[in-house]
Amino acid sequence: MATDIETDMTAKTPEATGADVVTRFAPSPTGFLHIGGARTALFNWLFARHHGGKFLLRIEDTDRARSTDAAIDAIIDGMQWLDLDWDGETVFQFARADRHAAVAAELLAKGEAYRCYLTQDELAAMRAEAQEKRLPFRVRSPWRDRSDGDPSIPHVVRLRAPQEGAVTIADKVQGEVTVQNAELDDFVLLRSDGTPTYMLSVVVDDNDMGVTHVIRGDDHLNNAFRQLALIRAMGWREPTYAHVPLIHGADGAKLSKRHGALGVDAYRDEMGYLPEAVNNYLLRLGWGHGDDEIISREQATEWFDLAHVGRSPSRFDFKKLENLNGHYLREADDARLAALVAPRVEKLAGRALTDAERATLTRAMESLKPRAKTLDEVADGAMFLFQGDPLPVDEKAAEVLKAAPEGLLAAVTQRLRGLDQWTIEELDAAVRAEAEAAELGLGKLAGPLRAALTGRTVSPGIFDVLLLLGRDVSLARLDAVQHYPAGA
Ligand code: GLU
Repeated sequence: MATDIETDMTAKTPEATGADVVTRFAPSPTGFLHIGGARTALFNWLFARHHGGKFLLRIEDTDRARSTDAAIDAIIDGMQWLDLDWDGETVFQFARADRHAAVAAELLAKGEAYRCYLTQDELAAMRAEAQEKRLPFRVRSPWRDRSDGDPSIPHVVRLRAPQEGAVTIADKVQGEVTVQNAELDDFVLLRSDGTPTYMLSVVVDDNDMGVTHVIRGDDHLNNAFRQLALIRAMGWREPTYAHVPLIHGADGAKLSKRHGALGVDAYRDEMGYLPEAVNNYLLRLGWGHGDDEIISREQATEWFDLAHVGRSPSRFDFKKLENLNGHYLREADDARLAALVAPRVEKLAGRALTDAERATLTRAMESLKPRAKTLDEVADGAMFLFQGDPLPVDEKAAEVLKAAPEGLLAAVTQRLRGLDQWTIEELDAAVRAEAEAAELGLGKLAGPLRAALTGRTVSPGIFDVLLLLGRDVSLARLDAVQHYPAGA
């Protein structure tokens, strides 16, 4: 179908503005809130908030076989997590089926639609003929011009779409796009069982909800021409369209699971990203403001426009998302982070944390978060605080301990045990004094100390480690490695 469309990449009309802006996010609840849907929601949210307008949520649950309550919950949960609040009640499309059917009846009464009695066999024959002639298949129903049908016989209702001329959409992202009306057909509004089609429901709901701007994926661009024909048949106000290029994988191919086409819950739960990082990343995935990479919600709301939505598909880049997440981790409040990290620590430790341990985790955040890109990395970095007896020692740390000069750890342990107070000043003085006595650089001493106290070669600064562990645990761990490796 894409070949049916001529695009003029230069034409763009100015953006309509005003407080009467109404946008909507209209997901089909057939799966999780995937990352592309989340971006569509974000763009609609930002556009509405930028203009002081309204952002609405409509659940398109007319596909009864595929729509599930679990998917509805996942969508709402995902939007709440991303802090994309919507105005008014959530609209459920299926509940409005009577209204959709009433509009079809109105179109019939106005002569803008007709009852079509083509059978499945007749349609199949038309399709086969088109295939034989290598022509695109378009329904040309003889019932368009007949009025002798019997409404008690099963039939569908089709729009009497214009056949001459062309339709041009001044799309805010794609520019002017024109389709010849001859390319479109009289699409179905009501199926033979009387249920409305997607095409009808979307148009009626957008109209009734007062939607002024339809911002969605460009996989819906072809639908827009049909929807416009329907809007014109009803004499309704035409919305402004903005069809945003879809997200591709890092290799340029269509986004698949491997590329990150996952539910936003996976970004939260499995990958450990913060919502502000995901929002910032999604914003930059298809929209730009000069060279700015780190953009707060406030700035985004102030700056967002459709003119700077890119026209080519953006590529998903986990590295960028990670870097943004690292930034927002460093910015985040310590108590909030500790609450997010605690369940991950508990999972790794295989036990619940005590209140005192949770308090330690909060105190540790300041030194843990600069070293991490995800919540899982923060949790992993925190593990030394909650493991013990015996402390697991990784391979690299074991090497460091083996290579430590004989008696070094015993000597520093003795100095530390003699301290009156376990403060940063006293600890610093004791460790420095030992480094001098042993004629070693501070780094040479910090390595074995770190390995003994954390079982790792990477950790927060050594004085932070000593303070976070406290005197008793620190001394016990140092005592435990005096003769490292035991029995080797
Ligand atoms: N329910 C459609 C979808 O999830 C969106 C319809 C629209 O935005 O017009 O793809």
